[in-house]
Amino acid sequence: MNNKKRKIAIIGAGASGMMCAITAKKQNSELDITIFEKNDKVGKKILASGNGRCNIINTTFDETNYHAGDPLFVKKALEQFSFATFKKFCLDIGLVLDVKEDSRCYPLSNEARSVVTLFSKALSEQGVRVRLEHDVEQIRYENGTFLVDDERFDKLVISSGLGAASQLGSSEDGLDFARSLGHTVAPTFPALVGLELADATKRLFGVKMRAKVSLYIDEDLREEALDDILFTNYGISGFAILDISTAASHALRLGSSVYIEIDLLPQFDRNKLFTLLKQVDNELTGMLPLKLIKLVRSQSIKETTHNIQHLRFDVSATHGFDHAEASGGGVLTSEINPHTMESKKIRGLYFTGEVLDVVGHRGGYNFTFAWASGYGAGKAISGSK
Ligand SMILES: Cc1cc2nc3c(=O)[nH]c(=O)nc-3n(C[C@H](O)[C@H](O)[C@H](O)COP(=O)(O)OP(=O)(O)OC[C@H]3O[C@@H](n4cnc5c(N)ncnc54)[C@H](O)[C@@H]3O)c2cc1C
Repeated sequence: MNNKKRKIAIIGAGASGMMCAITAKKQNSELDITIFEKNDKVGKKILASGNGRCNIINTTFDETNYHAGDPLFVKKALEQFSFATFKKFCLDIGLVLDVKEDSRCYPLSNEARSVVTLFSKALSEQGVRVRLEHDVEQIRYENGTFLVDDERFDKLVISSGLGAASQLGSSEDGLDFARSLGHTVAPTFPALVGLELADATKRLFGVKMRAKVSLYIDEDLREEALDDILFTNYGISGFAILDISTAASHALRLGSSVYIEIDLLPQFDRNKLFTLLKQVDNELTGMLPLKLIKLVRSQSIKETTHNIQHLRFDVSATHGFDHAEASGGGVLTSEINPHTMESKKIRGLYFTGEVLDVVGHRGGYNFTFAWASGYGAGKAISGSK
């Protein structure tokens, strides 16, 4: 078959699917590419991202920024992509990036919708067909070609994400497609998500502060994060909690015991805090929110010191997929070529983005992987790799 006239289907017009289509067409304008998208517009998740600002990428990234079944796969997949590559891609479509001091990056417009508008424009300029409101139900592989709801294609890219934030149209359909094509799937779990606490914390509702959170899994310290925490009506959220939540969620899925310890005043070590409490005669009013004082104050200054630095809560569950920013688990990456995103089981089949068993930390890393994998697959299907 002529390499230049291939018919290609991409399922999902999210970050990775759009990157894949635009990259492929730029390399090979002869390709006939159709993206199927169940929503009535492209990039709905991009629109909702970063509180409407879109933390579009992180300028530095490697496999340590991910929770993945196989970190080596992530390392290899990211090696073929760089911030410079992405920056150039963005400039070519008219998108100017704003790099912050902490290496997070946003569109200079500070609006996620400018990202979606420019990706959408690039798709139409490159002649990519986008079939909106087409919820793909069935994929079949027959005689070396792919049937997508009865339309035949030479190559197929599954970029349909996973189930976090289903209100934005997310689905786990990609996993059904993968299984039906002979792939193995690691069970999914919510990531970057608030945590439900076993002890009733409703009385702490609304308390927000900066604190250090330590995550214990089966009694072992696994992760620490220093940032905001926020007590909610279901448990606890805030940036520090989101940062440790993926490991907590994965452990809960495995049935491990999970608890967090919060250091409410991480700026003091134990001795300094003890001395300070002695100075103020165990009076905490000027040091902590009232609702927390009731929880940590004891007659003994030594015990109060300990309670402030080791406030413990058992974690009973996460706040669930609908409230999560991402999903862990997904298509096993041992069955995928990290350089091309092509299946090792079926030639011409590719997977990109969150549908794979790779989930990023907070800070733009999920989009980073979506762009990197979409870019790698785009080059591969164009025949330039
Ligand atoms: C509220 C929120 C905020 C976020 N903020 C950030 C952030 O600031 N930075 C960051 O790096 N990450 C962020 N993320 C995570 C990031 O959005 C995702 O990791 C990323 O979008 C994944 O890209 P993807 O292409 O793999 O999948 P998606 O972007 O989820 O795209 C998949 C597409 O496939 C479509 N689809 C699914 N099933 C079918 C089907 N059967 N037929 C047709 N179409 C289908 C879906 O409608 C969707 O449009 C955020 C996520 C959420 C929910």
